[in-house]
Amino acid sequence: MLREGRIAAVQQEPMAMDFTEATMTAKIAAATHGWRAKCLQRLIRLEMPVPHTVALPFSTVRAIAAGKKLNNTGLLALFGSGALVSVRPSPENPAWGGPATVLNVGLNAERHAQLTQSHGQAAADAMYLRFVQGYAVNVARLDPDMFASPAPKAEALAEALRRYEDEMDEPFPQDPGRQLSEVLRSMARAWEGTSARLLRQAKGAPDGAGLGLIVQEMAQGFGQGLSGAGVIQFVDPLLGLPQITGRYLSQSQGRDALRRTEAIYLTRDKRGASLEEAAPDIFADLLRYGAICRKGLREEMQIEFTIEDGNLAVIDAVRVPRSARANLRIAVALANDGVISEEEAVMRVEPRSLAELLHMQVDPRGPRDVLVKGIAASPGAATGVLVFSSTEAQTLAARGESCILVKRETAPEDIRGMHSAAGVLTERGGMTSHAAVIARGLGLPCIVGASDLRIDARLGLLTTPDGRKFREGERITVDGTTGEALAGVVDMLPPGQDDSFQTLLGWADRVRDIGIRANADTPSDARTARAFKAEGIGLCRTEHMFFDADRLVVMREMIFADTAQDRAAALALLLPMQRADFTELFSIMQGQPVCIRLFDPPLHEFLPQSREGLRDLAEALDKPLSDVTRRAEALSEVNPMLGMRGVRLGVVLPEIYDMQARAIFEATVEAARQGSPVVPEIMIPLVSARREVELVKTRIDQLAAAVRTQTGASFDYKLGVMVETPRAALRAGEIAQHAAFLSFGTNDLTQMTYGLSRDDAGRFMNTYVRQGVFTEDPFHILDVEGVGELLLIGAERGRKTRGDLTLSVCGEHGGNPESIDFCRQAGFDYVSCSPYRVPQARLAAAHLALRGRNLRAEAAGRPQQSSAAAE
Ligand code: PEP
Ligand code: MG
Repeated sequence: MLREGRIAAVQQEPMAMDFTEATMTAKIAAATHGWRAKCLQRLIRLEMPVPHTVALPFSTVRAIAAGKKLNNTGLLALFGSGALVSVRPSPENPAWGGPATVLNVGLNAERHAQLTQSHGQAAADAMYLRFVQGYAVNVARLDPDMFASPAPKAEALAEALRRYEDEMDEPFPQDPGRQLSEVLRSMARAWEGTSARLLRQAKGAPDGAGLGLIVQEMAQGFGQGLSGAGVIQFVDPLLGLPQITGRYLSQSQGRDALRRTEAIYLTRDKRGASLEEAAPDIFADLLRYGAICRKGLREEMQIEFTIEDGNLAVIDAVRVPRSARANLRIAVALANDGVISEEEAVMRVEPRSLAELLHMQVDPRGPRDVLVKGIAASPGAATGVLVFSSTEAQTLAARGESCILVKRETAPEDIRGMHSAAGVLTERGGMTSHAAVIARGLGLPCIVGASDLRIDARLGLLTTPDGRKFREGERITVDGTTGEALAGVVDMLPPGQDDSFQTLLGWADRVRDIGIRANADTPSDARTARAFKAEGIGLCRTEHMFFDADRLVVMREMIFADTAQDRAAALALLLPMQRADFTELFSIMQGQPVCIRLFDPPLHEFLPQSREGLRDLAEALDKPLSDVTRRAEALSEVNPMLGMRGVRLGVVLPEIYDMQARAIFEATVEAARQGSPVVPEIMIPLVSARREVELVKTRIDQLAAAVRTQTGASFDYKLGVMVETPRAALRAGEIAQHAAFLSFGTNDLTQMTYGLSRDDAGRFMNTYVRQGVFTEDPFHILDVEGVGELLLIGAERGRKTRGDLTLSVCGEHGGNPESIDFCRQAGFDYVSCSPYRVPQARLAAAHLALRGRNLRAEAAGRPQQSSAAAE
C-alpha cells in the first residue's frame, strides 16, 4: 500500500482545491505550509519511506475555516479509492501546537468489512474504533469520556457507533468525502478559536499565524506479518546524552506504544523483549534513518514509524522535546560533529534557559500545591523549614538545616540571614528591592511581592490567600523561577553545568562585541564571577561589607560618634578591614578591572530596628537607651532612597569616603606587591551635580597622593560617576569633565524617573501591567522610551565632553537580553549584572552580535543558514 515518498502541494485555489501532484521538488515552505509539511518534504528528499503526503497551505485552511465549501474529490482521488488517511496540524512553528491528529479518515462499514477480511477482525475493529473516537471527540465535539474504551473490542466499536448516533441524531457518516471535509473544517476552525489563539500567542505566535494541514495516507500498523507502530529517538531528553529510547507496540497505530504497557523495548533490554531482537533488519534501518535525519535535518529528531507486514514507514518526525540542559548539550554535540556551525549552536540556546542549568529546579513532572504567587525575583528552587527572622535562619544554618526566610521585606541587616537561608519569600518588594537584588547576587531562589500572604512574625505564622496556615518549622518550597511558593517538599532537578556549557559560552565569547562584568560585593561573589568568566567587577557595593557582626559594631560606633575624633577612631578600625576586603577582591580578580562604589545607603540602615536591638546597642555603646533611640529616630528617613545617602554622605561626612579611598589605594599597593597589579575604579553613587564630584575627587586625589608618598609605590586609578538621578544624565556633559567613566545605575534611575519606589512598586505593578499602563515592570525590563532616553542623553553628552569616556549599565537590567541590546546599540562598553546572570548575558550578547551580522549579510544578499528541522 505504501508508495514511494511523494508529496503534493495543494494549490491555493480554495473553492476547487485543484491539486498538482508534486515530487520532492514541490514548492513547500514552513512560512506557507507549516513546519511539519517542510519537515516531511525533507524526509522524502532524504529518501525515507514516507507514505503519500499532501500539504494544505495556510491560505486553504483559512478559507476552510471561513466556511468555504471545498470539493474534496480531487484530494481523495490522489490517494486512490478506499485509501485511509490521517490529518495532522502543521503550524509555522512546532511550539505553537495545533488541533489533535485524526487517524483512519475514510473508514466506514464497507471498508471495515474489507479490512476484516484482509487484516482480521481485531485489527479492523481497532482501526474503525479509533476513527469513530477521534471523529466524535475532535469533530463532533462530543464528551471524550463517553468514547473512552479500555480495549478495542467489537463491543466497544458497536457501543461507540451507537453513542454517536444517539448524541448526533444521525448515523456515523459513511461518505469518505464528507468525513474528510468535516475533519479539515473542524481542525481549521479549532485553530481560529480564542483559547487556541491565546495559547499560541503566549508561545510567541504572531496575531495572524497560519495553520497548514497534512493529509497522509495511513501506513497501517496492523497486518498479518510483523506489524505495529513505534517512536524512536537517539538522545536522552533530560540530559541530551546519546541514548536510544522509545517503544514499539505490535498491532497498533500512532503513539500507542508510548502509552501502553505491552509495548516492547527498542534496543536489547534485560527487562523484556525488544524490536532489535524481533526484527534486527528493521531496527538497523531505524538506526540508519536516525543518523540520516540528524545530518540531513541538522537536528536530533524523534521518528514516528509503522511496520506493516514487515515494511517500515516513517510517518512523521519531530524535534526531540528536551530540557534546557539537553538542548545545550545537543547543540554542542551537533557542532562538534560538524553538522551545524558553532555559531548556529550558540543561536540554538535561548539565553534565559541557562538559568535552568545554574540552579535547582522544581521537577515539572511532579505535583504542585501552590500557596501563593509573587514576583519571580531570583531563579531556582529550594525547600526548607519556615523561619521568620534572620537570626533564626542563622541558627538553623549553623545546625545544617535548610530554611526558607519569610519576611515582610528584607533590610541590609538581613544579609547574613539571607546568606544562611536556602530561599527567600517576601510580602513586599519588586524586581530591584533589597531581597531581589541580594538573592540574585547570591544565586538564591527568591520570590518578592507576594502581597496576598499574611505574615505574623511574632506568632511565627504564615497565612495563604486561601486561608491555610503554616507555622514556623513547617516545610515549604520556594520556586523563584515561576514566582510560586509551594507546600511541602517537592521533587527537584539538579543544576548541571558541564563541558558543553563551558564550550558553548566560549563560542559565544568569540562573537560577542560588548563587555560583560559582574556585580560582586564579596570574595565569594567575585569567585563566582570569575568562574562564570565575567570580565571584571562592574559594581562592588561596599556597604555590604559592613554587615559582619564584628564590623557592624564598629560601624555603629562610627555612626554614633559625638566628635570628629571619635568618628576617626571608629573609621581607623574599619580601615584595615576594608583594605583586606579590597586586597582579597583584587587578588581573586587577578588584574581584571574592579569598580568599587563608595558607600551608598543611608546610615540608619545600619541601626537595629527592634527595641531589643536598640537596647543591646545602648549596652554595647555604653550609652543610655533614650540617647540611642533619639539618635536612631533622628537618622531614620521615611523614604530612605532619596535622603542622606550616596554622595550626599560623602559631602556631609567625608571621612567615610576618605577611609574607603585609603583602603582601596593601600590594597592596590598590596595587590601589586602580591603580583596582581590592578587599576582600581572608584565610583561615586547618586550624583546629581558636578560640584559633588569635584568635592569628592579633590579629597580622593589628595589621598592617592598621600598613599603614594607613604608607601613609595606608584599606581593609577580611575574615578567615575554612577548616573542614577535624571539630573546626572542631563548634566552628563559637565559631570564627565571629572569622570573617566559613567555607569548607569538603572535601578535608582528607574525609580527616580518614574517617581516609583523600588520597594513598594510590587504592590500594584501587576495591575499596572495587566491594564497596559506599563508594558512591563520597568524595574525588570528597561524602559527604553523614558529611562532609555536618559541613558542616550547621558551617553551622548558625556562622550561629547570626553571621547574616551567608558559607558556601562550596572543596574539589575544589565543582565537582561533586551537591555544588552539597547546598550550595545547605544555604543556602551559593557554591562554588569549579578554573577549568576553573567552566562545569560554572555550568550545574549553573542546572539545580538550574530543577529546583527546575519542582518548585514542578508542586506548584502548573502543567504543565511538556519535549522532545517525548525524551518
Ligand atoms: C542602581 O541603582 O541601579 C544600582 C546599581 O545601585 P543599587 O541597586 O545599589 O542602588
Ligand atoms: Mg543605586
